[in-house]
This record gives sequence, structure tokens and C-alpha cells, in this order.
Amino acid sequence: MKPFQEKVSRRAFIRQNSMAGLGVALASTSIASPLAVHIKSAQKPAILGGPSAWAADKWPVWPMWNPETDEKQVLEVLRSGIWSRAHVVTQFEKEWAAALGAKRCLSTVNGTNALVIAINQLGIQAGDEVLVPPYTFIASVSSILSNGAMPVFVDIDPETFQIDPAKIEAKITPRTKAIMAVHILGLPVDMDRIMTIAEKHKLLVIEDACQAHLAEYNKQKVGTIGDAGCFSFQNSKNLPIGEGGAIVSNNDAFMDRCFSYHNFGYAYGTTVGSVSTGCLIQGTKLRFTEYQAAIGLAQMKRLDSQTTVRNENAAYLKSLIKDIPGIVPYKLYDNVTRGAFHLFPFRYKKEGFKDLSREDFLKAMKAEGVPCSSGYATLNTQPYLKDTFESKNYRKMYPKEMLDINKYNEQNKCPQNDKMCNEEAVWFTQNMLLGSKADMKDIASAIEKIHNNVDQIKTLSKK
Ligand SMILES: *Cc1c(COP(=O)(O)O)cnc(C)c1O
Repeated sequence: MKPFQEKVSRRAFIRQNSMAGLGVALASTSIASPLAVHIKSAQKPAILGGPSAWAADKWPVWPMWNPETDEKQVLEVLRSGIWSRAHVVTQFEKEWAAALGAKRCLSTVNGTNALVIAINQLGIQAGDEVLVPPYTFIASVSSILSNGAMPVFVDIDPETFQIDPAKIEAKITPRTKAIMAVHILGLPVDMDRIMTIAEKHKLLVIEDACQAHLAEYNKQKVGTIGDAGCFSFQNSKNLPIGEGGAIVSNNDAFMDRCFSYHNFGYAYGTTVGSVSTGCLIQGTKLRFTEYQAAIGLAQMKRLDSQTTVRNENAAYLKSLIKDIPGIVPYKLYDNVTRGAFHLFPFRYKKEGFKDLSREDFLKAMKAEGVPCSSGYATLNTQPYLKDTFESKNYRKMYPKEMLDINKYNEQNKCPQNDKMCNEEAVWFTQNMLLGSKADMKDIASAIEKIHNNVDQIKTLSKK
């Protein structure tokens, strides 16, 4: 059997492709061997009865946990009885700020509320507009709405999956207060262009770095470039704690206020339990706990090396699949010096697969034992917006014409995002990128197998 080629030129790929029929015939002899662990692209796809690339449990488990190295401090916390915010939380905040090169860090219950607090304490309120890409997790938008502000959607650049800087200025109005730069999938936004636009129009920049731990732009960690950066430590994230979040910034006055707000409005630094201190501002309670911090400190130790592995494997996988017709992997902006790769994205162009639908492609990939998904649904068209606009608060805060959902939908159309969500995006999760080089080859082989046998797969899907 023809060995898998690491660097397939498009021509070589087509040559290989033309051997597909032969490959199917060969597969029937090779399957018989119990030693055939590395499935090559010449074999029959699993969805057509061929062997799958691997069992689902082959992938690195997530989150990772090593009792020997990770549990000591967690147990100390549990046995101490000091579970509310205290010195372990402070230690976590110091270490996360240091890891990013930020002056200050405040931990929070989760990433969603890190965004809620940051927006609130940047003074973004009723009547203010925040520019946000539609290609993101709901929390980017709901954190704007929770503050009574208005999300204005800016379409994405499909090559990078990020907010398209070229489309921002057209969306700025006298009400615009901020740009939310969401480093979605852990791939950095084009921050030079964002910051230039923000300076020109005197806008604040909130970085939603909830998927972008240790990602860098111009050697600077994302989350530390704008006015505030927000992180999530939810279980699936690259720094997993179950739940948790953080705000980072170099602005002391802002961070003092964020602290107050997350702790009932008590003055910055007020320790948990000191109820006799007066409240400076209207606040709420969104504190991180000592055991979350202890888990986070353990997880932080592996984040840097894991990030390096994800970057290497992502680049390698990209090189393996970029010449397959119909597969268009992510592009990074020139100034990106490190990705976080919370996800590995590519665009699936069904033209390259004889019009096999993305849904059927995903089914065939899953049959190979390669977990994958089509990613986000279009956020700018969902019912939560109408529901918010019909709320009592919004009806008091905004003129009627601003709450006309049809008009809003018309003004917030994002055709590139529609195409991405509804037709093209395919994701692999970050833990898959912690596998070996051979694993990356196997992912690529799975795609090639499907490509080589697309005629038969299409017949199957019609049945
Ligand atoms: C996960 C995530 C959030 C919210 O974080 P939680 O910790 O789940 O509340 C916000 N924005 C983006 C882009 C995310 O991926």
C-alpha cells in the first residue's frame, strides 16, 4: 500500500486520489491483519464498512489530572476549612497576571461574569453600542445585554474566523462605546488594526480571551492589549477548573472597581467576612473560591507546554490537509506569534467533495473515530434578541425604533458568518491537538479517505 505522504502537492494528491478504486480493493486484504493499526488514506472509509481510524477513547482525556502533582494544595485547602476567597485566590491571580504579563488580575465565578463585570466597570450602559462579531459563544453577546447595552454585529473574515477589521468602521455610530475583540477558537484577532480603529474613534477595547489562554499577538499575550481582557476556566477551556474566570488589565482604578463590584461594592482589598465596612459602589457577588484557585494553580503548570504542543500539531495538521481540494484551514494574521488553538478550524467546501453535504462529511468523519463538529449557530438571528428587546428594561431604555427586531436584523446581517455557521465550519477540539504527530496524520488520512471515496459515500447518504 502506498504510504501516507506528509507533503502532498495538489498534483500528487490527485494522483493518489486516482488510486482510490485500487485502495478499496487493497483495503479488504489489509483489514484482515490485526496489526493494521495505522489506517492509510487508501483504505475504505469506516462509513462504508472499512476499519475506523481509532476508538473514541484514544484521544487525550480532558481535563487532565495527575493526583501526585495536582492534589496536594487542593487537599490542603479542603482540610483548612478556608474555602471562600483568601490567600490561594490571591496567589492564583498573581500567577495568572504574571503568566500574561498583565499588571492586575481579578478572578471571578466564570468567564461570562468576567465580561459582565468588565463591561459594567468600563461604564458601558443603556444606550451604548458595543461592536461584536457574531462568530462567538453566546456569553460575548449576553454580557453586553446584561448591562443594558446594545450589541452591534460586525461580520467576520472567513479566512481567519475573526471579526473583520475592514467592516468595523461602517458600524460605528455616535452611540458606539467599545469593540469586543473576541479571539474566537483561540486564534488572535488582528489587534493592531483593532487598536488603531479604537484610538481613532475613541472606543474602548474589551478582549474576550475566554478561548485564548497564552495566545500572542506581536509577542504580547492577548487579553493584555485592550482596556480589559477576560478569560474563562470552564471545564472545556485550555485552563480548566470546572468553572471560573478572570479579568486582567493594567488600569489600577478600573481593577479596584472591578474588585469592589464583584464583592458587594466593598472597597478594594476588603477581606471576606468584614461586613462592617461600608459599600462604595453598587455591587454584586461573583467571587472565586480557594479550591477553584488550587485546582487552577495545578492546571496552570501544564498550560505553557500544552500550548506549545497545540501550536506544533495545529501547524502540522494544517500542512497535511491544506492541499486536499475542498479543505481550507484557518489562517493566522501575520502578527500572531502564538495561537491558543482552543479549536482547530477549517472550512469545508462541498464543491471539493462533489457536493457531499457538510453533515454527511461530519458523519463520515465520526465513523472514522475522529470527533468533529460544525461549531456555532448564527448568534445574530436567535430569539434571545427579540426577547430582550421586549423586556420592560429595554423598552424604558431605548427608543422604539431601536427595538424594532426586523430593522435590527436587517442592520445586523452578517452573510460571511451565515455561510460559515450554516455551511462551512468544521472544528476539532483542543485535546485532539495534544496527541502525537501520528495522530495528526491519522486525522488527515480520515479526511483523504472520505475525499477519495466520496462517490460511494454520497450513494450511501441517499439511501
Ligand atoms: C467560554 C466562553 C465564555 C464564557 O465563559 P464561561 O466561563 O463559560 O462563563 C465567553 N466567551 C467565549 C468566547 C467563550 O468561549
